[in-house]
Amino acid sequence: MENNEPENTARMVVDACSDCDVCRFLMDSDCLMFPELYRFYDNEIETGKKITSKELRKLVDLCNFCALCPCPNIRADIIQAKTQFIDREVLKFGVRMIEDVERIGKLCGTFPGLANFLLRNRITGQPFKKTLGIHHRRRFPDIPARNFPTWVRKHRLHIKRNPGNRRKVAYFAGCTGRYLFPDVPKAAVEVLQTNGVEVYYPEQKCCGMPTLLEGDRQLTMQFVNFNIEQLSQIVEDGYDIVCSCPTCGYFLKIVLSEGAYYSPQYQQSIGAGDTHIKIPAGRNPADLTNHAFVLLKKSIYQSILKDEGYFSTISPRKRILVAEHTFDLSEYLGQLQRAGELRSPSGKVTGKMVYYPPCHAREQNIGRPYTELLRLVRGIDIEAIDGHFYCCGMAGVMGFKKGFHESSIQLGQRLMDKIREINPDGIVTDCLSCRLQFNQLLPYQVLHPVEIFNEAYSAEKTHG
Ligand code: SF4
Ligand code: SF4
Repeated sequence: MENNEPENTARMVVDACSDCDVCRFLMDSDCLMFPELYRFYDNEIETGKKITSKELRKLVDLCNFCALCPCPNIRADIIQAKTQFIDREVLKFGVRMIEDVERIGKLCGTFPGLANFLLRNRITGQPFKKTLGIHHRRRFPDIPARNFPTWVRKHRLHIKRNPGNRRKVAYFAGCTGRYLFPDVPKAAVEVLQTNGVEVYYPEQKCCGMPTLLEGDRQLTMQFVNFNIEQLSQIVEDGYDIVCSCPTCGYFLKIVLSEGAYYSPQYQQSIGAGDTHIKIPAGRNPADLTNHAFVLLKKSIYQSILKDEGYFSTISPRKRILVAEHTFDLSEYLGQLQRAGELRSPSGKVTGKMVYYPPCHAREQNIGRPYTELLRLVRGIDIEAIDGHFYCCGMAGVMGFKKGFHESSIQLGQRLMDKIREINPDGIVTDCLSCRLQFNQLLPYQVLHPVEIFNEAYSAEKTHG
């Protein structure tokens, strides 16, 4: 078997994790992949029968890249194996259709009334789901009458109106927001503008996470190449990039820049010299105030630390430029607050709300700015759930799939029970994929934190 065979990559994961064994106990209830990995491994030890190719294929399919497990390199290998399997097979028609939210959104958004009727109707809805490989019990969100890009054009945000403004951002809205929940990106724009920030909406594609998860290398690279070219140019024009979707932020900041700091181009640009590799000390590349370096001996680390990952064919300079200038919306608003430039809304929003911090916000290592920011809103009673111990289980597009729906519900059960126990008036979360799962399983209204903030600003105007 050749080295780039998916079985070899998946086997490396099995060997590393069975040798280490930490996730046998750490990940026994929050991940579907690890319990299966240890079951296959234990069976192999007991019976002497090698784990089969089919079993390895099943293993990598169980990972939804939730990032709860401790080792980024293991997650990267799982995605690599999945991609290698798909390189060898053909991507199923249904997966090809649903992995591209923009395409589905545009298609259904042409005649939203008709699309909603066809999707909700039992006679037409079920065959539609069957064709796309969507589980028959998975609820499809309502297609909005007007999507976000249409609103953008009406408000002329696609034109740089005031590039001289000191605070200016290129807003990366994310596909689910753009085509399924446009009230969220609208609220993000309005909150930024209320605080004097110039908002520009550059042309953008899907960040690439859903297609990466499906192992679709070609489409992922197409999206990423487009976005990197657009966004790196905008950063050079003096804009920061702001994401209201934590998965997009995680992808642009962390996933794309993986390995880029080890590239010869970057090392030369910072004058690393012949004896050491220099890497930024902060784990979060967006922490521009902390550009101290860690020095690692080349003789020891050069063979291990390389820019050889999924996106290494893309300019490391551009990947770093984008990563270092991308901010989660909460992080950006938090910075405004610390600089004394965020206006606390005086309007009231009442209710007992549960805040669920999504996994990809946690992975950005930025703390919990939204819990602090929501405390600025008068009248609201917020209880935050510790996201380290709970997963919603949706995993974006994966939660729609016939083969993953039941597992997705099972994974999210503990979180749903926890929220039912609190019995809030509503749920607040910044992840729209989590919102889909909450809408599927719970009776509460779900809002993005920025919608609450915007509502508080609007209440101000209403009540004088
Ligand atoms: S993911 Fe990391 S910590 Fe967990 S079992 Fe594998 S090697 Fe060990
Ligand atoms: S990323 Fe999540 S689903 Fe994948 S192996 Fe790690 S914990 Fe499991």
